[in-house]
Amino acid sequence: MSNNQKTKVMPRSKISKKSKENDSIFGKCASVFVTLYNRACKVFFPSNIKCLICGDDLKQKQDIEVCDKCKCKLHFITESECCARCGSVISGQGKFCLNCQKGDTEFDIARSVFIYDGEIKHLIAGLKYNNKPYISRTLSNYIAQKFTELKWQADLIIPVPLSDARRKWRGYNQAQLLAEGVSDKLGIPVNTETLVKIKDTDQQVNLSSDERRKNLKDCFKVIDKYAVRGKRILLIDDVMTTGSTASACAHELKKAHADRVMVLTIAHGKTEIPTEKGIKAQEIFENL
Ligand SMILES: [Zn+2]
Ligand SMILES: [Zn+2]
Repeated sequence: MSNNQKTKVMPRSKISKKSKENDSIFGKCASVFVTLYNRACKVFFPSNIKCLICGDDLKQKQDIEVCDKCKCKLHFITESECCARCGSVISGQGKFCLNCQKGDTEFDIARSVFIYDGEIKHLIAGLKYNNKPYISRTLSNYIAQKFTELKWQADLIIPVPLSDARRKWRGYNQAQLLAEGVSDKLGIPVNTETLVKIKDTDQQVNLSSDERRKNLKDCFKVIDKYAVRGKRILLIDDVMTTGSTASACAHELKKAHADRVMVLTIAHGKTEIPTEKGIKAQEIFENL
């Protein structure tokens, strides 16, 4: 080997330096790539999207922020288990619950997505009492899904109103948030001004059906009859228990010549109501 050839051989120290430079450039590129990749992932798959029930990360942004595992545990009310008119879960063989047969309900039809129990009860409590208005997004998407499944047609969405005092206390009306979410999803206009609550009422939780009705008498008012005249109204609320609130609202809407009042709520009280043929829970019904 000649001396010239020898000089062409790069010294070991230089090879090492060059290699370190290459490694360094490669390292920087890799690092930039990883940063960009992570940023892109955060945009398309934000890590803060979690299941509202168990808190697990969701793989992607979705309308209903509940993971598949939790979804399986929720009690959706099916058409075969509920009263054909008011949507209460019924026991017995008839199509209608005793309340509806007695003609107690003033709305045309009502349905709820879930039984008011377990995780759904917690989600609704979060929305109503723990200042978590963002839960309304998922819940309103469940209501919109139910509306589509039922193939109902509506011209206007109206939330069950809260009194001014209660709205100020909570900071928002949860039914209004749900109604606005349903309106966004279905493209049906929402009116939050026309039906108002003019009298504050005592909490209804421990009242009987008759007491609830008396409690709600003359509580609601339609302030713009032309907004509802001839319209098919979709009334939205969070929970239906005896149906007396929805009935009182429907009474006012019908007085203002609404064509039809349909009601959708997230959940329905879990008490089974007997039908005319199978009075399995008569005592419970008497105490409603
Ligand atoms: Zn989950
Ligand atoms: Zn019924």
